[in-house]
Amino acid sequence: MAKLEPRGRKVKILATVGPASREPHMLRKLLLAGADAFRVNMSHGDHATHAETIAAIRALEKEFHRPIAILCDLQGPKLRVGTFQDGQAVIRHGSHFTLDRNPEPGDDTRVCLPHPELFGLLGKGQRLLINDGKIRLRVIRADESAILCSAEVGGVISDRKGVNVPDAEVPIPALTEKDRRDLAFAVEHKADCIALSFVQRPEDLAEARRLMGSASGAALCAKIEKPQAVQRLGEIIELSDIVMVARGDLGVELNPEEVPPLQKRIVNAARTQGKPVIVATQMLESMIESPAPTRAEVSDVANAVYDGADVVMLSAETAAGQWPEEAVAIMHRIGSEVERDPGYKGRIRFLETLPDPTTADALSHACMTIAENMPINAIVVFTGSGSTARRVARERPGVPMLVLTPDNVTARRMCLVWGAHAVATKDIGSFEEMIAKGKRMALRHGFAKAGSKLIALAGVPFGTPGSTNLLHVVTLTGDELTRK
Ligand code: PEP
Repeated sequence: MAKLEPRGRKVKILATVGPASREPHMLRKLLLAGADAFRVNMSHGDHATHAETIAAIRALEKEFHRPIAILCDLQGPKLRVGTFQDGQAVIRHGSHFTLDRNPEPGDDTRVCLPHPELFGLLGKGQRLLINDGKIRLRVIRADESAILCSAEVGGVISDRKGVNVPDAEVPIPALTEKDRRDLAFAVEHKADCIALSFVQRPEDLAEARRLMGSASGAALCAKIEKPQAVQRLGEIIELSDIVMVARGDLGVELNPEEVPPLQKRIVNAARTQGKPVIVATQMLESMIESPAPTRAEVSDVANAVYDGADVVMLSAETAAGQWPEEAVAIMHRIGSEVERDPGYKGRIRFLETLPDPTTADALSHACMTIAENMPINAIVVFTGSGSTARRVARERPGVPMLVLTPDNVTARRMCLVWGAHAVATKDIGSFEEMIAKGKRMALRHGFAKAGSKLIALAGVPFGTPGSTNLLHVVTLTGDELTRK
């Protein structure tokens, strides 16, 4: 069997799959270079191609006997302009430009905006940002049939370019018809995580959860990219399993200088609630074309790691760039280097995550303190749903965490959790079995050797959800591998 050593790195790498990386040999290279999870971007490509990508990733899982998480990212209610007579037009600085309901192709004075919800919603002084904010329009006058704007910043506008309206809460459903089809596809193909774009309110997540159905084991990720979501951050995080700082659209909807403090606020809020958090977009942007990143990009990735993010994400770098493997490799090196910094532990612990008054939290906290006061090699967590492992990860312990679970879905979801190395393995039935298995697995996966000490964390009765109540410190003699 092909072998892949544990990463020896706590922060996880999520690589977006696209034309540059979806061939099986390239996915394999990205996995070997350090990718822990893959993102399938439903904004591009078709279901047949996505199904092939998912099958190729599952084949890698089998080949390396290593769980890999797949995140399907729904496009969301992305607003777009219509088309142009010549495919494009130039809007001049300071000129007037109208968005209307006339489906005829547009020119340099007008274009169709095929979203009836926006008419009557936008008012004087509000902004419309087109093509990732490159064109900035301000509303002069608006009614039910047309929105007359002045072009504060002009530029080239072409067919179906994206439109952002940061100053208004748009009364459109969180999931379009396309999103519903894509969500059904993701559930059917057993995606481990489904990400919802342009979340505005907590109800958007409730709707997605309802559509996913109770049988789906997928985690729900809220992409924070709208100011409206920032205003209700706490509630949105509470209803999500994972959170993404989607800096691309966030930096369009807000001023770019507002993104770094917000990134820190979102990471802290998610960490406080014990929800994994992904920092996304433009992390190594120049590597779309260049084999080496800029110093500023390296610093950006490093700072996300110092902030204690669970996951750092590559977008176009791996989806459409010329150096996908190198981008993953450098991200792996940055994460590993930061985590070797003697100051790192102190930095990620800047955030005080007080335990909730539950047995699971008290024991998770105890794991961390024991590991601080004794030479512990690893924490071995026995878990069904992964919830205890997430609570231990929330403490950001200084030692590796080996997660043993009988549930494949849980093992995969651990690929998006800080510091977790998951192994899907048969359930345990007794205390003795737990200790023996914990030792054996720790030795087999390189987390321990003769003389090592481990913390085992589990729940009795075994196999009962929410029963975490047992913490045991064990010492290895070294002959455990040969025992049954
Ligand atoms: C983002 O906007 O940062 C993001 C991750 O979303 P998308 O790539 O779907 O635009």
